[in-house]
Amino acid sequence: MKGFDLNKLVRESVQKLQPYSSARDEYVSDGSEMIFLDANENPYDNGVNRYPDPYQRSLKSVLADQKSISENQILLGNGSDEVLDLIYRAFCEPNQDNIITLPPTYGMYKVLAGINAVKNKEVLLTNDFEPNVDEILKVVDIKTKLLFICSPNNPTANSFHKEKIERLLKSFNGLVVIDEAYIDFSKDESWLSQLINYPNLIVTQTLSKAYGLAGIRLGVCYASEEIIGVLNKIKPPYNVNQLTQQHALQRVLNQDLVQQEVKHILKERQELMKALESLEFVEVLYPTDANFILAKVDDANKRYQQLLNKQVVVRNRSTQPLCENTLRFTVGTPEENKKLIAILKELE
Ligand SMILES: *Cc1c(COP(=O)(O)O)cnc(C)c1O
Repeated sequence: MKGFDLNKLVRESVQKLQPYSSARDEYVSDGSEMIFLDANENPYDNGVNRYPDPYQRSLKSVLADQKSISENQILLGNGSDEVLDLIYRAFCEPNQDNIITLPPTYGMYKVLAGINAVKNKEVLLTNDFEPNVDEILKVVDIKTKLLFICSPNNPTANSFHKEKIERLLKSFNGLVVIDEAYIDFSKDESWLSQLINYPNLIVTQTLSKAYGLAGIRLGVCYASEEIIGVLNKIKPPYNVNQLTQQHALQRVLNQDLVQQEVKHILKERQELMKALESLEFVEVLYPTDANFILAKVDDANKRYQQLLNKQVVVRNRSTQPLCENTLRFTVGTPEENKKLIAILKELE
């Protein structure tokens, strides 16, 4: 981070880019009664006949407040997946640059690298599912633009040690993307408070997990104003639709309900851990800091199929490195978990 220079990381084409200027960019409503004849919309009101706010100001203002951060440090996208794709497109030159991922981890980083023609250097986690910091720093070269850290990590469910992430933030001169999709379930603090200390830090979160809004697609990116400025330049003007903005706003304003649901999920997680622990065919139960549990079993394919036959779908993660014979269980409702546990106890 010492020699960090954002300008050197931005693709030349993005630096030179003159962003599209939309009707809602050129005239920003101050709330007064106006006649809008500037965007070729159908004038008959049905709730969504107007283009949405391209910068989602109402939603950002609430998020900024809740996270004690400036609105200019927030970018919203059509799920984290769009946010991550924008990061690639802003900083990685196709067929030249590379990124680093730490398998076993979230599959989208690799897919997005492929789509964007960016080389993905994979550095396996250690056997206790921690980043191998020395090895990571060894594979960094001048074309390494991004390092993806998922903490709590999917599918291993653990949060990485703070000191390891800190070392990476301090030693890597590209951008460190910390994916905090599961942060609301974690006992660890978010890295958001560290944005002020690390100009190379990007934190992504989502409303898809703890906030219970996977269906509306809303991903959040927090970073320095400079980084957000670059991403704003290349994002599609109306990337977050009106219905999503409204629904997300209602939900983030209802923190009591969200926190209550998280509490219930964590309590259920503990029950599920206890039940899994007592099963003979469960060989390792990994510690979890998320809303799911990774378990090593005797024969994952067999157990997966047995559960399917009982109408329960879990995720078989056995093809992932270090995850041989593992199943990933998302924590469900108390009724669902009770059924799952009863079924698991009956398996032969
Ligand atoms: C589920 C998940 C996401 C969420 O992606 P969205 O596109 O926001 O739904 C992001 N990162 C990880 C690691 C996940 O497991």
